[in-house]
Amino acid sequence: KAMNGPTTRPTIAGKRSHSNSHTPQPKAGKSKDDFIWGDIIGEGSFSTVTLAWDKLPTSQPQSQPQPPLSSSPNRFISSIPSSTSSSSSISSHSIPPPKQSRIYAMKELSQAHIVKENKIKYVTIEKHALQLLNTDNSNGSSQLREHSHENIKHPNQRHPKRQKNEGSLGIIRLWMTFREGRSTYGGSDHLHNLAGDSLFFALEYAPNGELLSWIKKMGSFDEKSAKFYAAQTLSAIGFIHGRGVIHRDIKPENILLNSEMAIKVTDFGSAKILDQSTDAESNINEERSKSFVGTAEYVSPELLRDRSVGKECDFWALGCIIYQMITGKPPFKATNEYLTFQLIMKLEYSFPDNFPPVARDLVEKLLVLDPVDRLGSGEDGIEDIRNHAWFDDVDFQQIWNLDPPSIA
Ligand code: ATP
Repeated sequence: KAMNGPTTRPTIAGKRSHSNSHTPQPKAGKSKDDFIWGDIIGEGSFSTVTLAWDKLPTSQPQSQPQPPLSSSPNRFISSIPSSTSSSSSISSHSIPPPKQSRIYAMKELSQAHIVKENKIKYVTIEKHALQLLNTDNSNGSSQLREHSHENIKHPNQRHPKRQKNEGSLGIIRLWMTFREGRSTYGGSDHLHNLAGDSLFFALEYAPNGELLSWIKKMGSFDEKSAKFYAAQTLSAIGFIHGRGVIHRDIKPENILLNSEMAIKVTDFGSAKILDQSTDAESNINEERSKSFVGTAEYVSPELLRDRSVGKECDFWALGCIIYQMITGKPPFKATNEYLTFQLIMKLEYSFPDNFPPVARDLVEKLLVLDPVDRLGSGEDGIEDIRNHAWFDDVDFQQIWNLDPPSIA
């Protein structure tokens, strides 16, 4: 979970790294020593996320990260009342060092922990899904290379003339992965002897934190902001589905915001990846789908009922998020998970009187118990949601080019 601002874990690459001099590595590639390490920015159940920068080849090794900037990391931060801006992931992290050096949110997963908790599939799916979504084309030939990012030309970059795959702009980018640790390869130890290993996912850093933090800070969003973020989320979901992936855990914690306050969907560990050649689920997902539960407040009724879901579950989650942005609270929330599930199964929620009527109509069409009747489930899929009257004044073609409204 997100940490409250910068912390004081040792941060110097040389000090934090295992010495590699006695440790044969599996392949030539990136290692921890290739990065300058900054603050921890968050922790999950199986991971720690730390800021890291490429060491510039030309620069002298830096013994210390640069001090944090005194100013906010972007112009929108200042719109948060200072009295409330000190206690969440929105607070500014160290934004230091070398100019031209790429910044990463480096997600470290302890392999021993993953194996012990039986989460290998979770990690594998996250990587696989991000690879599918991080390509320029839709035929699955990934340009993402383990241990290397040098030759990646990725669509996830702002470009005034870009036209294709704009939805990928809404997906967190995985720059590279690498593995590092104590195990030896090809010697007496075997590949499965990975007790000291960590897996690293070098993710694009989204400095403005989670959408959830913004909803909490602001209490709720005005309709304009809610619509903008709903439209970007919808666009990202459309792209994800188009690549044969169902996210299955869309929620405001998993929607991050970059420096321009555009969304970046993350956390694909619960995703379902359709086998594009056969249109059938791969085995890895079969097993995953049986064990998947998701996050109580955003779980679709079909998952609770049948324990299986299609793409419509992401539309249900979108309905929950629109409701939450406008009211400040998710539609279904009780004191415990069981009671929350009861509310969902009974579709028991209500709108406050001041809920905008057209937005209400959309939410009511998304929060439909039977996925077959849910908006977006028809032949035209996501187009039907885009065409809803609430989005009449949204230019989806430009949704990644527009300046986000200042959240109010
Ligand atoms: P869990 O695994 O328990 O569900 P999680 O999915 O939040 O938790 P991580 O993906 O490891 O776990 O993320 C931990 C925290 O780090 C997140 O809550 C988020 O605040 C922060 N974080 C993760 N990725 C990024 C990123 N790319 N940019 C900025 N912050 C990030």
